[in-house]
Amino acid sequence: METLSKIRRPNIISPIVTKMARLSPLKDGQYHPASGATSLAIRHGSVNLIPINKENTEFILIDAGMDKHARKIRRHLGKLGLDLSAVKRVYITHSHPDHIRGLQALKNVPVYMSEHESRVLRGELPYEGFFPKLFDKFTKHQRANTYASINPVIISHGYKETVGNVNMHAMDMPGHTSGSTGYLVGKNDGSKAFDLFPGDGMDIDRHGNARNAAPPFTADTKISDQSITDTAEHIARLQRANEVDIVHSVLPSHSGSGDYSSVYNYRRAA
Ligand SMILES: [Zn+2]
Repeated sequence: METLSKIRRPNIISPIVTKMARLSPLKDGQYHPASGATSLAIRHGSVNLIPINKENTEFILIDAGMDKHARKIRRHLGKLGLDLSAVKRVYITHSHPDHIRGLQALKNVPVYMSEHESRVLRGELPYEGFFPKLFDKFTKHQRANTYASINPVIISHGYKETVGNVNMHAMDMPGHTSGSTGYLVGKNDGSKAFDLFPGDGMDIDRHGNARNAAPPFTADTKISDQSITDTAEHIARLQRANEVDIVHSVLPSHSGSGDYSSVYNYRRAA
C-alpha cells in the first residue's frame, strides 16, 4: 500500500467547489490523516476506498464517484496490481450524480443504500437540492434505464454489519437529501474505533468546524444542521451501548477531514 501515498492527481472541480465553500480539501489519492480506524482509506473526489482484508486486496467503496467508467478507482487499484473486481461492496451516501455514476462501471457489485435514495437512483424520485434539481428532468428517464439492473440492498438507520475485517454502522443524515446516509467504519479488531463518513451530510470548514455542506446542493440546510446534532446523539448512544468506543475522524465527501470533536462540539453548541 506504500505506493498509494504518492498518488496525486489534479482535480478540476474540487478547487472550484473549495473556493465556493471556503474549504480545505483532502487531495485525490491522499490517505485519510490521523485516522486510527481506516488508516489505509484513500479518496478521490467523493469516493472513499477502504480495504477489508489484511492483504489489502479487497475493498469496499463509500460512494462510486462521478465518472461512469470509474477510471480513478481503476487506476488506484491498478497500482496495487488489482482491478475493479477487488471492490466487494458499494455503500452509497446519497444519489447525487457525483456519488452514483461510477456504479455504471461496477455492475455486478452489491450496492447498499437507503430506500429513498434507491428511488432517486432509479428516477422514481427527483434529485434534491437547487442545482441537482435543475438537471433532474434531463436525467430522470436516463437514470431509470441506466440503473435498471441495480437491485440495491436497502439499509436503514441502525443497520450494522461486519464486512471482512471492518465493522459498519449506518445512520440517517437527512437534509442534504431526504435519504442521505452516514457510515461509521472501523476495523474489526476489538478496538471499537471508527471513522465517520457522512457523505454530503456535513462538511468540515477550514477552522475544523462541522457545518452543513454546500447549500446550493443541499435540499434543506436546517434539517442538515439538525442532522449533525442527531448524528452526535446517535453516536453517543452507540458509545453507551458499548458498540463504539472512539470516533477518530470525520471524512466528508467534499471538504477536508476533521476531528470527531467538531461534531461533538456542534451538538453541545446547538
Ligand atoms: Zn450531494
